[in-house]
Amino acid sequence: FGFKGCQKIRGAQIRGLLEAKDFFLFDCDGVIWHGENAISGAAKVVNALIRRGKNVVFVTNNCTRPRENYMNKFTRLGFTEVMLEQIFSSSYCSALYLRDVVKVRGQVFVIGCEGLRRELLEAGIPCVEEADDPEATIYDCALAPDVKAVLVGHDDKLTFLKLAKASCYLRDPECLFLATDNDPWHPLSSGRILPGSGSLTAAIEVASGRKATVIGKPSRFMFECISSQFRGVDPAQCLMVGDRLETDMLFGFNCGLDTMLTLTGVSQIEEAQEYRDSEQTTNRSYVPDYVVDTIADFLPAFEE
Ligand code: PLP
Ligand code: CA
Repeated sequence: FGFKGCQKIRGAQIRGLLEAKDFFLFDCDGVIWHGENAISGAAKVVNALIRRGKNVVFVTNNCTRPRENYMNKFTRLGFTEVMLEQIFSSSYCSALYLRDVVKVRGQVFVIGCEGLRRELLEAGIPCVEEADDPEATIYDCALAPDVKAVLVGHDDKLTFLKLAKASCYLRDPECLFLATDNDPWHPLSSGRILPGSGSLTAAIEVASGRKATVIGKPSRFMFECISSQFRGVDPAQCLMVGDRLETDMLFGFNCGLDTMLTLTGVSQIEEAQEYRDSEQTTNRSYVPDYVVDTIADFLPAFEE
């Protein structure tokens, strides 16, 4: 008991923290925007950090768009200082993993949206053509002979046939099993939820009896992607800002970064305090170092 964390900070403390750190990692949904709406003040904060010469990157588990699409979204929502090189999505990092880490030879069977497929093709990774005859079934459809990886991400057109094919490809122990992210669900503004990639991955894990390698947060791989593209990133100089304890705070913990929870998204401060005060010491990896109501609380720190 008495473990530190969850420190709610404001005013001069925020100013001090922003001065002390030189590398800021922002989660996207729930931190800088909600779906298609920017969080009030977020664009000003991000633009001001960049103009002050701070390094800023975005780490999102949303695998449904290629980076170019994110670029348009940043611009449209007023994040005018952001450049393509600052965007790290689970789809982009999955493409880098396949290309540079495992150097996949052969095709990738993708469960995911068109955007994920586009990101892979951009990196030169061949994907199995997804043009199934609507009448095809797992009893009579063709399977590609050279599938060396199955990659699972959020797919709003998931079919039983795709699930079945993925499970069949994974019978081959040489075929890699990757997941863009393991997010369970996402909030919609209507109060409904969207099942996340994790729910689809779980189905295939059950059917294949295998465990997927997760690329997105909380896996360290996203930070390795960032480190490989920004020379000399020192974890001690970084602040990871996110809204979800089980992805963002754990990611920061796994990578040795200071963490900040913002209360504009999924997790509540009470959940963070429960993790902090729990008997189980492993729960501390979910506890943010700092808490703010919104990243708009950074704004006064930029005033002279
Ligand atoms: N994946 C999907 C399909 C989503 O819709 C969302 C959020 O809306 C996310 C992942 C989570 O994104 P982030 O990591 O930016 O919070
Ligand atoms: Ca989020």
